[in-house]
Amino acid sequence: MKNALIFGVTGQDGAYLSDFLLKKGYNVFGCFRRTSHKSFERIDELGNFEKITRIKADLADYSSIQAAIRQAQPDEIYNLAAQSFVGASFQQPILTSDITGLGTLRILDAIKENTPNVKFYQASSSEMFGNYPGVKNEDSFFKPRSPYGVAKVFAHHITNHYRDAYNIFASCGILFNHESPLRGLEFVTRRITWNLARIKFQKAKKFNLGNIYAKRDWGFAGDYVEAMWLMLQQDKPDDYVIATGESHSVEEFLTLATEFAGLGDWHNIIEIDKSIMRPTDIDDLIGDSSKARKQLGWKPKLSFKDLVKTMVDHDMNFFKSRVDPRYDSN
Ligand code: NAP
Repeated sequence: MKNALIFGVTGQDGAYLSDFLLKKGYNVFGCFRRTSHKSFERIDELGNFEKITRIKADLADYSSIQAAIRQAQPDEIYNLAAQSFVGASFQQPILTSDITGLGTLRILDAIKENTPNVKFYQASSSEMFGNYPGVKNEDSFFKPRSPYGVAKVFAHHITNHYRDAYNIFASCGILFNHESPLRGLEFVTRRITWNLARIKFQKAKKFNLGNIYAKRDWGFAGDYVEAMWLMLQQDKPDDYVIATGESHSVEEFLTLATEFAGLGDWHNIIEIDKSIMRPTDIDDLIGDSSKARKQLGWKPKLSFKDLVKTMVDHDMNFFKSRVDPRYDSN
């Protein structure tokens, strides 16, 4: 039986990846940071809280990373931990650089010192490409447009460096946006589905959004964690773009979600708020994952439309079961 250690197990991808690895028969060790409020809801929602050995470790703290690695004796390490919200990286650029960028280096250095034979996965991001034009693949240039993107470029390059310099099996998945009912509430897709459910159940009348014209290549997180695992099952480490190859605007997501929620025209419930727009944004992100499709045999399964519907249904059911019994018959 293999041991897997996941940094960021309490996040969206951590929940789906631990579920995936448990089903494959792994012993899963999951790192979480100390906070005043425990955030195990996601692994709990998938029924895995008791099945994961939970270890306290913070990416700011080298000694706790080392201790986690020594305790778990992992065959595979997945680094999903990050300050992962692009918007927040403009307000907290130093923290973002420290956790998202240097945090990766701390893990790599702990690997070099303790378990150089482990296989390591780094969560790289399409945000590294910025507004570099066209469909992006593994050879496209990085031109990040946020402190988050810059920190991810550092983490990506330092992972490549440890692979080359110290022969560590380290692979980067350059993942394009992936969403799910477990997505954080601050991310635009979940902000939309959550607030539509609040409106439907009369908890709110309107909500605000920033740039609805931004286009992203949106997949389903449950499909994307399989690609992370596949990367570590190869003979050699490498970097792979993971994407659907389709891009849709926030406005398209909103229109479809409002339709599924049965709320009519979204113009009546949305206010565009310039104050939450980012100082610099990316207009359009679309990825070419042909390398992963060919070499890993991976492809996305859930369509954009089904992804939106799954998220809307989840949030509607959440409020339905808690708020107002009158909606039970809807
Ligand atoms: P997420 O839901 O925001 O999860 C981030 C995880 O990092 C959480 O478990 C969080 O813990 C943890 N974390 C934050 N600061 C930490 C610290 N100082 N020490 C230890 N852990 C810390 O993000 P996600 O959507 O699952 O994404 C997983 C990874 O993929 C991230 O690195 C993200 O940047 C990257 N990525 C995501 C996407 C996407 O579309 N989802 C696309 C490309 C790349 P708490 O629960 O305590 O906050």
